[in-house]
Amino acid sequence: RQPAQSPLFGILQAASDFYGNALHAHPARQTAVQYLGKRGISKDIAGDFLLGYAPPGWDNLLRELGGDSLKEKYLLEAGLLAENPDSGRRYDRFRDRIIFPIRDSRGRVIGFGGRVLGDDKPKYLNSPETPVFHKGQELYGLYEARQHNRQLQDILVVEGYMDVIALAQQGLRNAVATLGTATTPEHIKRLLRIVPTITFCFDGDNAGRKAAWRALEATLEHMKDGISARFLFLPDGLDPDDLVRNEGAEAFRARISSQSQSLSDYFFRHLSEELDLDSLEGKAHLATLASPLIGKIPGHNLQQLMERQLLQLTGLGISQPRPVSAPASQPE
Ligand code: ATP
Ligand code: MN
Ligand code: MN
Ligand code: MN
Repeated sequence: RQPAQSPLFGILQAASDFYGNALHAHPARQTAVQYLGKRGISKDIAGDFLLGYAPPGWDNLLRELGGDSLKEKYLLEAGLLAENPDSGRRYDRFRDRIIFPIRDSRGRVIGFGGRVLGDDKPKYLNSPETPVFHKGQELYGLYEARQHNRQLQDILVVEGYMDVIALAQQGLRNAVATLGTATTPEHIKRLLRIVPTITFCFDGDNAGRKAAWRALEATLEHMKDGISARFLFLPDGLDPDDLVRNEGAEAFRARISSQSQSLSDYFFRHLSEELDLDSLEGKAHLATLASPLIGKIPGHNLQQLMERQLLQLTGLGISQPRPVSAPASQPE
């Protein structure tokens, strides 16, 4: 999935070092340090996640690392420079932002996220897709979680960089985030090679609820018997970062164990939400929605149990394709 060697790894590592050093030594670092302090991030956690700071200005990184035309080309290919399409001028992509280096499973820096320090837009910028950075496959925090615990039993999937870091700060070191994209089947496959249990915990807003259903869809095709996927829905307006800082790790853990729903419970609850299951039409509609999805589940036992549940709710089994009746032959 990832080239073993690429000249981009070196330049990405150098950029990460540059941003990391700037957080410690750049004259303009105070705003960044204060920002992290305000969000409750300790030096230790900042160090574990290699947090950095891209100072203000259009060409700090370009001047530091773009010494010759080959290096500049690598900076561009690595997504660290952007290019004005009209003038062709190249400039630093990340400016005056907190930097979140994204590492692959071997710990190599492959891309970055960057957050503004105030309320400017866009709030987050991510590296574009590059030969070494594929958002549909990578999960922020996975390398760090595995570094911290070689025997992970379960993984928490959240939306944002700051959710991963705030959870780690409170001692929940098993969170990973999708990188501003929907959860993909590749993400799930990757996680299930490491742990048998995944809990999704997205923001308590419409985007988060939508992301949860997308995650369920991506998970269905990997639901072998023995796998567990659970869904924790948060109070309106709150995300894992907000909650874990308000209530602490123990309360958050308790939430996961007492309030999360199994994939099958969430599945039927969500699909039935707007349906009247006392009417035949509602039952028909549920069966129509549920059958093709249940058909994707590779775990025979789970599939059978979910079919039985559908049968109980609607009186209908998973639809068997009807034999297509041959067109009546024309009389001579
Ligand atoms: P914070 O707590 O720092 O304000 P957040 O992580 O709660 O931010 P959300 O708006 O919930 O931010 O977004 C979740 C994630 O989605 C972010 O961490 C980032 O990866 C991605 N994201 C958010 N806004 C953007 C954007 N404008 N462009 C690209 N990705 C974004
Ligand atoms: Mn959100
Ligand atoms: Mn959020
Ligand atoms: Mn947040």
